Amino acid sequence: MTTVVGRLAPSPTGLLHVGNARSLLLAWLAVRHAGGRIHLRVEDLLPDGDVHLPALLADLAWLGLPCDPWQGQAFIRQSERAALYDALLAGLLTRGEVYPCVCTRKDIDLAARAPHAEDKATAYPGTCRGRFGSEAEALAFERQRAAEEGRPALGVALRLVVPDAPVTFTDLLHGPQTVRLPDDSGDIVVRRKDGGVAYMFAVVVDDWAMGVNQVVRGDDLLEVTGQQLAVYAALQRLSASELPAFQGLPSYVHVPLVLGDDGRRLAKRNASLHLGALRETGVPAQRLRAWLVTSLGMSPSEDFASLIDDFAWSRLPRTPVHFGVEQLRQISRTTGGRP
Ligand SMILES: [Zn+2]
Repeated sequence: MTTVVGRLAPSPTGLLHVGNARSLLLAWLAVRHAGGRIHLRVEDLLPDGDVHLPALLADLAWLGLPCDPWQGQAFIRQSERAALYDALLAGLLTRGEVYPCVCTRKDIDLAARAPHAEDKATAYPGTCRGRFGSEAEALAFERQRAAEEGRPALGVALRLVVPDAPVTFTDLLHGPQTVRLPDDSGDIVVRRKDGGVAYMFAVVVDDWAMGVNQVVRGDDLLEVTGQQLAVYAALQRLSASELPAFQGLPSYVHVPLVLGDDGRRLAKRNASLHLGALRETGVPAQRLRAWLVTSLGMSPSEDFASLIDDFAWSRLPRTPVHFGVEQLRQISRTTGGRP
């Protein structure tokens, strides 16, 4: 039987809120229930470099979800893995799976204008596919254009050629999914113009390298899963020595998010619902865990062994759950005998 391998992959940008904590707890319980391993990966590839690693680690420690080391490390940081990402991108470039792109946002909007101008997001129309013989040629083009326009030259992005055929997968909660990437996203940015590796690429490389076979995360990422599967497919054709043998695609579970009083997903703006804020206002971690466990359809218990035992996907509510002022008041309320 295959060992279940999961990961907790928080981004240290906006710090963890109650909604993030719920997804992390779910991913953790699912792996522990299956007797598998779960690794911690810090997704700190942020263009603005706004990283709060100590606060993130403090939040995780407070929440109390110990992870398994990976290759002797307590956790891995994407910001330390640039050499691996770059080597794989170089291989994909050689194979023509990725290509340099000099388009600006404005170029893409203009090229895509009509007949679907009012569509929600603009799929990249493939302007630079087959346009340049090399990255150096694309860079020379960008430098010349920048000089003509009297602005500083930018770098060139790299885009992955997406398949014409529909990408299909099955999500445990959302069922069978079909995505037509040429209409949905177009060719995907895998390296930004500033040279930084795109989230979409790094996630797949790391899941593959870590042997992750079960991905549990918020359902805001359901719509980009097809793009990640396109990255998997390109990497499979690469046969790179940098990656271990392919173990198969992960199973996907996209969890309904936690909504605030305004009916919107909890986010950075809900500062009072960040774990750090709860901790500082004296909310006991076990109170938060009890609420989270209940929201996952289980009976609250401080006994982690019985929680792990009780876990079942079938108990998980299929609809978003709500956490607002009233729920905050409930978990903040002091118990009898305490001031
Ligand atoms: Zn382009």
